[in-house]
Amino acid sequence: MNIFAQQIGQGKALLGKARKIVAFCGAGISTESGLADFRSKGGLWDRYRIVTFQEFLAGQESRVEYWSMRRELIPGLLNAQPNPAHHALAKLESDGKLDYVITQNIDGLHQAAGSRRVIELHGTNITASCLNCRRQWHIAEIQHRLEAGDLDPHCEECNGLIKPDTVSFGQPMPAKAMDMAYQAAAGCDLLLMIGSSLEVQPANQFPLIAHQSGAGLIFINRTATPYDSLATLLFSESAGQVMQMLIE
Ligand SMILES: [Zn+2]
Repeated sequence: MNIFAQQIGQGKALLGKARKIVAFCGAGISTESGLADFRSKGGLWDRYRIVTFQEFLAGQESRVEYWSMRRELIPGLLNAQPNPAHHALAKLESDGKLDYVITQNIDGLHQAAGSRRVIELHGTNITASCLNCRRQWHIAEIQHRLEAGDLDPHCEECNGLIKPDTVSFGQPMPAKAMDMAYQAAAGCDLLLMIGSSLEVQPANQFPLIAHQSGAGLIFINRTATPYDSLATLLFSESAGQVMQMLIE
């Protein structure tokens, strides 16, 4: 038996034994759905400047810049389909094995695959809200307005600013989501880390918290992370392939 097959066998045994699994996911789980990692070379962040939340609030010019980038980003998000890794997590949840998915992604693909217990650390790009009255729209409606030439969309009800429900640079991490994620990580007996380089604070703390609470760790990521030495099992193969084999 080769090493990969052996590791899959070990992973299946860990999953079988676990009673409360938490998944922690980064951009890498969605690259197999055709969504480029924002930080990768040639990604949108290479071509657009980051507009901070403060700049977004302060001036129309910044908002037009922000929305021009979104206008390019949104169609890809709306067309993306969940891949086998998202489906495998949804299956673990419906089987009663998985407690929560903690995600850094804003693409809504976990929910599209059927996951219900999803903690979104960076919010979601699938909806947008009025910053004043909190009225909410599906992002497709806002995309329609952008394409019709409305490059600084305002709320029809109160004329407030509309912004996607993501956590922007300069906005604090959502306290409730962070609390839930800390509790989930501390309470699980197995943490599956999928597609994160674990370089960004404070999100990279969740595998560490799970480990300190005695949980096993399975890492599935293309590249090495600073916490690899803590992992019970390490996979650098395709997340979709590995997850599908682990739940078979
Ligand atoms: Zn409003």
